[in-house]
Amino acid sequence: MSFSFEVKSRIAGAHGRSGVITTPHGQIKTPAFIPVGTKATVKAALPDSIEELGAQAVLANAYHLYLQPGPETLDEAGGLGKFMNWNKPTFTDSGGFQVMSLGVGFKKVIDMNGDSLNSDDLIAEKRERLAHVDDDGVTFKSHLDGSMHRFSPEISMRVQHQIGADIIFAFDELTTLHNTKKYQEESLERTRLWAIRCLDEHKRLTDSRSHRPYQALFGVLQGAQYEDLRRKAAKDLGEMESSGISFDGFGIGGALDKSKLGTIVGWAVDELPDNKPRHLLGIGEPADLFAGVENGADTFDCVAPTREARTSAVYSATGRFNVSGGSYRKDFSPIDPECDCYTCKNYSRAYLNHLFRAKEILGPTLATIHNVHFIVNLVEQMRLAIEAGNFLEFKNEFLGRYKNAI
Ligand SMILES: [Zn+2]
Repeated sequence: MSFSFEVKSRIAGAHGRSGVITTPHGQIKTPAFIPVGTKATVKAALPDSIEELGAQAVLANAYHLYLQPGPETLDEAGGLGKFMNWNKPTFTDSGGFQVMSLGVGFKKVIDMNGDSLNSDDLIAEKRERLAHVDDDGVTFKSHLDGSMHRFSPEISMRVQHQIGADIIFAFDELTTLHNTKKYQEESLERTRLWAIRCLDEHKRLTDSRSHRPYQALFGVLQGAQYEDLRRKAAKDLGEMESSGISFDGFGIGGALDKSKLGTIVGWAVDELPDNKPRHLLGIGEPADLFAGVENGADTFDCVAPTREARTSAVYSATGRFNVSGGSYRKDFSPIDPECDCYTCKNYSRAYLNHLFRAKEILGPTLATIHNVHFIVNLVEQMRLAIEAGNFLEFKNEFLGRYKNAI
């Protein structure tokens, strides 16, 4: 086995820490932001650019790669990294989130004002439900061609072994903040039983595929906004052992009330073993990253920096703005004068404004390079601040300026 995690330093008075994850494809210094390459590509950017801007790993999506091109193709290619020409560590999520979110039609973070929707039946009221959960797994309809498929813990493990990422996730059921507490409890128990099945199948596949590099399996904690459920999930998965193995790390997932993000991460981290890494799934906005890091999350992924880049929304030290807006037509300064990415070193807001207005492909490419660099670098600066003992000062200084959006 060549997977390990070592804590380097800690934030005084908080759960946050810096550390190093070691995988068969190299190390990840944490905390770290992991850019998303859903279909084995970080959209609009060359792998070389993603490496140059400082990314230490990428995260692809088991659901999307299962449907297209199929996990057999990635297996035959020698695994995800080889297939996409990315020589550093890789992650895949379990497919559970996409199976269920594309199926039942809800967003990851739902506002808490929808009290009238507090029923399990109303979530997919206005559209056809494309996913059906039972105790054994999930049956779902492909969003590509409408064909029917089934994911279970065993199938998710097989697919993720074929894809071959260094860090893979247990198959879990995603719930929303609108599900009733009773449903959250049932779902959490289902996810717990699925976690045991994931460990068993992962052990079997690891033994039978010894020609492949070791893959680390992370258990996924659900429990929505409930303290008792979040703590139970963390305790159950943190202590879980089956087929003689335990989880290599943990993913904190599911519906999160963003105003309580740090508190919810803190509940989970309280109960989890200190010597294993924790990944906060689907979180990437600056204030959320600070909350996650402070409360003990080690790695993060999110489609926001890349997705927003393709719509011309870009980050700067003073806030996020839309570079295709009229006021940037003749603004010859870089997106962020403090940024040292390839885009900011070589191009102006006026040029990006022109590219987006003319619908040129280079617009999304340059904006993606900047946004991914901005977020990767922000978390890297958090790591350096933890090691220098001034994380809280850095947080207050950054967020103090970032709130004053342009
Ligand atoms: Zn830049």
